[in-house]
Amino acid sequence: MAVQQNRVTRSRRNMRRAHDALVAGNPNECPSCGELKRPHHVCPSCGSYSGREVVAQTSDIDLEDDAA
Ligand SMILES: [Zn+2]
Repeated sequence: MAVQQNRVTRSRRNMRRAHDALVAGNPNECPSCGELKRPHHVCPSCGSYSGREVVAQTSDIDLEDDAA
């Protein structure tokens, strides 16, 4: 097992961690519903991508049809 030769001081540890902060995402506005969505991802609120609906929304599915 590798063993460190020198103690890392609080200062040096904190200087290393100064670059570890998470950055916020860069959401885009959905062109069909206007909600914020991740770029290059299907819109989670309307299920559209590139101007057409690619994922059917649960509110659009009639569950009574399947039961019969
Ligand atoms: Zn949308």
